[in-house]
Amino acid sequence: MSLQRSSDELVGYDEAMERFDVVLGLEVHVELGTASKMWCGCSTEFGGEPNTRTCPVCLGLPGSLPVVNRKAVESAIRIGLSLGCEIAQWCRFARKQYFYPDMPKNYQISQYDEPIAFDGRVELEVDGVGYEVPIERAHMEEDAGKSLHVGGSTGRIQGSDHSLMDYNRAGVPLVEIVTRPIRGTGARGPEVARAYMAHLRDMVRALGVSQGRMEQGQLRCDANVSLMPKGSDELGTRTETKNVNSLRSVEAALRYEIRRQGAVLAGGGRVEQETRMWNEAGGFTTAGRSKEQAEDYRYFPEPDLIPLAPGREWVAELRASLPEMPSAKRSRLQSEWGFSDLEMRDVIGNEGALDLIEATVAAGCDPVAARKWWLTELARAANEQGVALEELAISPVQVAQVQELVEAGTVNDRLARTVIEGVLAGEGAPGRIVEARGLAVVSDEGALTAAVDAVIEANPDVAARIRGGRTQAVGALIGAVMRQLGGKADARRVRELITARLS
Ligand code: ADP
Ligand code: MG
Ligand code: ZN
Repeated sequence: MSLQRSSDELVGYDEAMERFDVVLGLEVHVELGTASKMWCGCSTEFGGEPNTRTCPVCLGLPGSLPVVNRKAVESAIRIGLSLGCEIAQWCRFARKQYFYPDMPKNYQISQYDEPIAFDGRVELEVDGVGYEVPIERAHMEEDAGKSLHVGGSTGRIQGSDHSLMDYNRAGVPLVEIVTRPIRGTGARGPEVARAYMAHLRDMVRALGVSQGRMEQGQLRCDANVSLMPKGSDELGTRTETKNVNSLRSVEAALRYEIRRQGAVLAGGGRVEQETRMWNEAGGFTTAGRSKEQAEDYRYFPEPDLIPLAPGREWVAELRASLPEMPSAKRSRLQSEWGFSDLEMRDVIGNEGALDLIEATVAAGCDPVAARKWWLTELARAANEQGVALEELAISPVQVAQVQELVEAGTVNDRLARTVIEGVLAGEGAPGRIVEARGLAVVSDEGALTAAVDAVIEANPDVAARIRGGRTQAVGALIGAVMRQLGGKADARRVRELITARLS
């Protein structure tokens, strides 16, 4: 953890919102989950002994030549189509030159003025309000390696003795998705940015082009933001906070920058155009380098690669085979299940719940019951165990089986919860647990009637009140019958029996 603190002045977020309009720009890198790298056959797998997944091409050795990974191009086109982009008829790769020790060729192969996909848009909903994020482009490029800064045992508080280079990640295919300036989000800007990131994550997962794990750097966001005085139409100077790698941090970093820029501008100062770093532990940004211009990179068409001309038939095929997008799926399931907006929002708000409920319903469960189990009992269990819903030791099929036992009258809701506990504890299938733990409700009418009669006899005064019309007193007798049967009875049936006896 850094000892560095931010000494920035901040205004209150609401105060900034009263005086300024927010403009956002998001640049998101998606690491593609292709088996091999962008220009060579090396594995892209995460981790591994440093420098074991390298070859002359991804190490940039003289005489080695890159070859385009068709699967990566296909993934880029599918991402572009899912963003509503047009796909270029013809496009080229470009060299972007700058020195960075983790970039062995001393230049990055990227795309410049001819991206593979351009002019798209993403529609989002945040708390019931719709927003549109205009997409400028999605282009292909290669990832760099990693520097590891080690040592530092020389008595200094900060800093390292030396750096080591790991080129395993060098040449892993990336798609960078760049928005146009996003306006009109009002105070919701940081939340819209977060929702956009979540959308991209769900989208790349649905496409199967990346696992979209932010904590592993498979999805990284550079978050640009500027402020302009209310009523002004001229874009302000932006800052770009680099490599923010969680949904929460995207929102938090933007909120921080808005408050910081708000203070600078309110004090009559000027915002510096610069990159900034997000300090996760401290919850603030710090200044990075002042921003270079595109000219500084000396882009020129990559001479070792021929242009790409994705065939129109291929593009049409890819378009036809796109999976249903997560937002479309959400609306479809909401209407199929008959959930209100509020109910659906609870489902979406619980990571993984949508798919689990869908699978539970597919296993024959009523949607309302499926929602109830996953969002109450199981959400609580996941919370207690500190795991995600899908990591719980119960499958959607088993949840459907529990509900089946409830509907068949074998167990009541309370016993069903005990059955679920048993499944979570690894005691086997719901039906087995009912037998093993003796959880089935007493459905034998003779036994039920006997219990009801015994309770009425033991509580003559209550029985008399019910006979006299005080029907709310039935509750006391139901409770007594349930106790007598160890909670293993269907309360509705018990009520019916008591009422029948006393009327
Ligand atoms: P760079 O390559 O320098 O990062 P780009 O133009 O590729 O610049 O991307 C910058 C991002 O910031 C884009 O998403 C763009 O839409 C957005 N952007 C541009 N100008 C502004 C501004 N004044 N305020 C906020 N965002 C901006
Ligand atoms: Mg950038
Ligand atoms: Zn290689």
